[in-house]
Amino acid sequence: MLTQRPRGTADLLPGEVESWRRLEDTFREVCRTYHYQEIRTPIFEHTELFARGVGETTDIVEKEMYTFEDHGERSLTLRPEGTAGVVRAFVENKLYGNPDLTKLFYIGPMFRYEKPQKGRWRQFHQYGVEVLGSEAPDVDAEVIALGATFLERLGLGRVQLEMNSVGCAECRPRHREAMVAALRPVADRLCADCQSRLERNPLRIFDCKNESCQALLREVNAPTVLDCLCDACAEHFDAVKRLLQETGVSYTVNPRLVRGLDYYTRTAWEFIVPGYSTVAGGGRYNGLVAEVGGPETPGVGFAGGLERALLVLQEQGIHPAQKSALAVYIAVADDTAATTAARLLQQVREAGISADRDYQNKGLKAQFKAADRLGARFVLVLGENEVAAGTVSVKDLTTGEQVAVAQDQLVSYLSTRV
Ligand code: ATP
Ligand code: MG
Repeated sequence: MLTQRPRGTADLLPGEVESWRRLEDTFREVCRTYHYQEIRTPIFEHTELFARGVGETTDIVEKEMYTFEDHGERSLTLRPEGTAGVVRAFVENKLYGNPDLTKLFYIGPMFRYEKPQKGRWRQFHQYGVEVLGSEAPDVDAEVIALGATFLERLGLGRVQLEMNSVGCAECRPRHREAMVAALRPVADRLCADCQSRLERNPLRIFDCKNESCQALLREVNAPTVLDCLCDACAEHFDAVKRLLQETGVSYTVNPRLVRGLDYYTRTAWEFIVPGYSTVAGGGRYNGLVAEVGGPETPGVGFAGGLERALLVLQEQGIHPAQKSALAVYIAVADDTAATTAARLLQQVREAGISADRDYQNKGLKAQFKAADRLGARFVLVLGENEVAAGTVSVKDLTTGEQVAVAQDQLVSYLSTRV
């Protein structure tokens, strides 16, 4: 136990972390160009927020939350997703008072008690954006374009965008009735979960992972929300599709697409890499802000899994980033040079050049080997002679060339070369 991490968690070791950072940096950069600002919210929130915000009938709330009581007997939950917390922060900090749209992004760990498997963790990481304050289809299209741009920038090949509209408070009850009418006669052939979904939230049956339920939906030709859309929702969906075409984002419509969260209204979408999995998903949530106690405010956003994106990149043979190499290694030939070495090391580092040295009393030869292992570009050799002369021998490991440089010229010498 002591030497084993909890099931479904991962250690990101040096060598891997660089790829993560490259992803995060790329996302931040794309968000900057779309003019979204970063927000950081707590890792845990009151359980009630997710129960209300994510939805009581979702898998997340029914069986995946890490919920605990703190010493003050409050029920708290490790966040299973990012939107509820961002919306809570929007309301609590009265960001709705801002005359402009609130356009936010986040990156951080999420927690779900799931069965760990490839690309599915109990602690995983999401990047995502939320836009609060506009119903315009242009904003749906912008958020989708941001996601598509990011995935493309990463170099993820073959990403497909699947789109749907899940309607609004006007069309959903009509759809619900039609679902119940179609499925009630064959309800005993649904899985236990879906039998309860049929009563509580029949739309969720489309999201069931059991093939038998999916087959039954096809067999009875179950109505999709798309079949039941009200005029306003149909118009909105058409506008989103038109705008995507206009901006060169290709998509397919999948009328069976529903998302794992109850708060979605109108546009819903997923970015899928065929043969792998869903790498990101999102949608519009016009009721969520009011649901958590804020003024009626429309919103739209998406989130993607960092692990999933990295997995797909790996399987496509793309390594987003290398371990960062060392610029300078200082080799100390004898003890008399130790203090000079410490001073030069500090000067080089202060100049912003990465540098390291031996602390294990290695011989000179072993220090050269270490420099090589660490991928150093230059080895600086300091011994009795160099100290006496006020110089340092600088060996360029890429060319093998070695020159003596005055110690007070060292930083400028290196600066022009690394
Ligand atoms: P799935 O159907 O795969 O369970 P979901 O609908 O629960 O996904 P969302 O809640 O929409 O997923 O989360 C958005 C993205 O976060 C997913 O597309 C996926 O890339 C990632 N994700 C979700 N759950 C996990 C997990 N347990 N481990 C790793 N990544 C995850
Ligand atoms: Mg899930």
